[in-house]
Amino acid sequence: MSSPSGADTDTRGPARELWPADLVYDGLGRPRKDAAVLVQTQPAPARVVTIGRFDALRSQYPAVPVRPVRRVIAPAPVNAHTHLDLSRMPLSPGGYVDFIGAVIAHGRAGGRGLAAAEQGLAELAAAGVDTVGDIVTDERVLARLLAHPGLQGVAYWEVFGTDPDEAETLFEAAVDVVRRFRPLERPGGVRLGLSPHTPHTVSAPLLRKLVALARAEGLPLQIHVAEDPGELPLHRSGDGPLREAWGPFLAKFRPSGRSPVGYLDELGVLAARPTLVHAIHVVDDDIRRLQRAGCAVVHCPRSNALLGSGTFPWAAYARHGVSVALGTDSRGSSPSLSPVDEWRAAVAIHGVAADPAQLLWAAVKGGHRALGTQPPRVVRGSPADALVSWPEGAPWPGVSAHAEAGSVDDVRGGPD
Ligand SMILES: [Zn+2]
Repeated sequence: MSSPSGADTDTRGPARELWPADLVYDGLGRPRKDAAVLVQTQPAPARVVTIGRFDALRSQYPAVPVRPVRRVIAPAPVNAHTHLDLSRMPLSPGGYVDFIGAVIAHGRAGGRGLAAAEQGLAELAAAGVDTVGDIVTDERVLARLLAHPGLQGVAYWEVFGTDPDEAETLFEAAVDVVRRFRPLERPGGVRLGLSPHTPHTVSAPLLRKLVALARAEGLPLQIHVAEDPGELPLHRSGDGPLREAWGPFLAKFRPSGRSPVGYLDELGVLAARPTLVHAIHVVDDDIRRLQRAGCAVVHCPRSNALLGSGTFPWAAYARHGVSVALGTDSRGSSPSLSPVDEWRAAVAIHGVAADPAQLLWAAVKGGHRALGTQPPRVVRGSPADALVSWPEGAPWPGVSAHAEAGSVDDVRGGPD
């Protein structure tokens, strides 16, 4: 039985469906609003025929069955910043100082490590995430991530050290980690990176050494910066709530008189194009410096809300054309490791200040850019399961792209 438009309902020919969504993203350009994906579902495997405006495709293919409208159809999102070894930490609302204290207490109680990271990896897989930027503090976790067959992204080895006198020793330890773990990198898998924790918990000489190492070795960098408003007075004048809370720990910290981002720039850190995490408390000059250096920023909206860190200046970053990614941060400050949840929270938090389509771009392409992984490109003939529905995980059950060989070039009948 043929439909008026051709073979769409003909059991002998190809079958197609129209998958509409409020936002459709193919990994190329910008996400499209009120769009749809024309999918050839038979013969299997299901493949993308074309993507366009829903109303145009609907009138061009009037006999093609239309699936219910989804919120988003897009490639799988990226979690560009988390701490998998904190996946067993209880959600710990409160300010930054209390939170760091809770992280330290959790670690001392034995809550971090491989078992917690495995729990986090399972949670990522359940959320459909195969690309991650993880901050790593445990060599067993590092080995696990670098060998993981289903994961790509960066495992950033975290380095602390406020005492300049210890910079050489701590640097040599980091060099040793790089030397031993670099050979475990595999093509298409997780890469090794470095994460100097923050500009106030890593001394200037250690930061310089780590950046030089990263540049020499081609290692990606990720650093937390300007997460808490207390970082501003600490860097500008050496006082404020962080000095009061961590006096002995910060005894050798010397303020540069600049903003945290300005300090990183003057020190030569931005020139190595680190990914900057949080970067909430910034002014236009900071954002211009980031943009000039080509640094990406990772936005963690739920963590920022839970810790009362402040509101990420989305519009200012958009105005300056800085590439923004989304990350959940750890389970200690985020109720899940799902970047889809993060996107939904970002849409709610920013309201009219941020376009949901731009936030979607951040969750997918922004994440790949931040981690240096290849962004997906969904084109004619791509397997339909290169696209997933948010939050369902797959557009529709039973539509598999892996059943058997085939090509959209086989499509017969009907206007193309
Ligand atoms: Zn973090």
